[in-house]
Amino acid sequence: MATLTFLGAAQQVTGSCYLVECCGRKLLLECGLRQGEDQRGRDEYQLPAQVQPHAIDAVVLSHAHLDHSGLLPLLVRQGYRNPVYATEATVDLLPIMYRDAASLLRSDYERRNRRRQRAGKEELEPPFDSSDVEHALALLHGIPYGQHRNLLPGIDLRFVDAGHILGSAIVEIWLHGEAQPRKLVFSGDLGNNCAPLMKDPAVLPEADVLLLESTYGDRNHRDLDKTLEEFNGVLEDASRSGGNILIPAFAVGRTQDMIYHLGRLQREGRLPRHRVFIDSPMAIRVSEVYAKHQDLFNHDDPNFRAFMEGGWDNWLPGLTYTVLPEESMALNRITEGAIVVAGSGMCSGGRILHHLKHNLWRNKTQVVITGYQARGGLGRLLVDGATSVRIFGEDIAVKARIHTLGGFSAHAGQDQLVSWATRHQGNRAKLFLVHGEIEAMLALQDRFRNEHRWEAQIPAPGDAISV
Ligand SMILES: [Zn+2]
Ligand SMILES: [Zn+2]
Repeated sequence: MATLTFLGAAQQVTGSCYLVECCGRKLLLECGLRQGEDQRGRDEYQLPAQVQPHAIDAVVLSHAHLDHSGLLPLLVRQGYRNPVYATEATVDLLPIMYRDAASLLRSDYERRNRRRQRAGKEELEPPFDSSDVEHALALLHGIPYGQHRNLLPGIDLRFVDAGHILGSAIVEIWLHGEAQPRKLVFSGDLGNNCAPLMKDPAVLPEADVLLLESTYGDRNHRDLDKTLEEFNGVLEDASRSGGNILIPAFAVGRTQDMIYHLGRLQREGRLPRHRVFIDSPMAIRVSEVYAKHQDLFNHDDPNFRAFMEGGWDNWLPGLTYTVLPEESMALNRITEGAIVVAGSGMCSGGRILHHLKHNLWRNKTQVVITGYQARGGLGRLLVDGATSVRIFGEDIAVKARIHTLGGFSAHAGQDQLVSWATRHQGNRAKLFLVHGEIEAMLALQDRFRNEHRWEAQIPAPGDAISV
């Protein structure tokens, strides 16, 4: 008999992690970082207690976002040496993600240790370093979409496109125990059907057990055209008032989407007075990986050809990538006419913090929130209307206007989740809601119950089921 244990992203969005046990083997599905309040007082870099790195036989990652993949270097530091499977594009993205994470950790711990030294305290070791990252990268195996693979005795796998970011996958896992074979489908993060660059999520394959993400289980997004109009309104406002526009964005996915949207607006003559800065050394490398995997894009988009033919720079002339820290700091001296796209997407770290510190207190600044913000994080405080926030130990007044544009989301909204999951009306899977805040999960559960007479379970962290 096979067992599935919910170790993370259970009644929370981040920290995606599930343990699948079958035929005496252990497969770790996802190894994600907890972010924002999901850390619940624990160290963010801590594996779930049930994960013993030496006892895991294989790891599978659905996509490159750190809330799904970020603890792999820690797993490796603690002794994991077996293969890690992901799609080919994810395997190309992870080196960029992990090397950046290790370098952020190094500077963070250097700063902390300087403080500790001054206080006469012992120095702390970062949870992982660049050598752990290189060891982890050496374990990666890319599997193309659609290819059926045997991973371990009794456990097979196939990835299909989830349409969320480049390389993102819906994961199909076949479990051939002594009893009847069972099939587990994990939705991964499901894309928004309105996303311009990615294809729509692949149709749901047949499943006995379905794990469905529920980030936006309680709401629908505005459609993309309305969102673009709203975005255009923000740009016009900023043109009139003269302030800067800050867009916190993940370097993977959201940044490329924003370049695409801004390029479209510029081609339509709607970006006359702004200069766009992508303030992220990572984003350039990520954009190169995107260009390498053009075949995975949504070729139906009417602007696609023009977009890909000239490359990112021709699509949005005047686009400036700022790589060096000095270039980034120089942006803080610009008081109007700049659109700055910088990470992290949830304002939990990275260069966006400096820009927020230098601009939030100005009433001409506009902040455009385009993605999910974890509860307890700085981005969420801004969305919820905080009038003052603490950045680098300093209280900063929030005079800027904060706009939340849900239509740019890389996640499916409620209707999209429901229509994706209810494709098979006949022999229905056991349904488990994951990767969502509890309110979103309850709303989604209600909808499945009321409209489809389908009872969805909401597992708690640590819950285990027989598959
Ligand atoms: Zn994601
Ligand atoms: Zn996620």
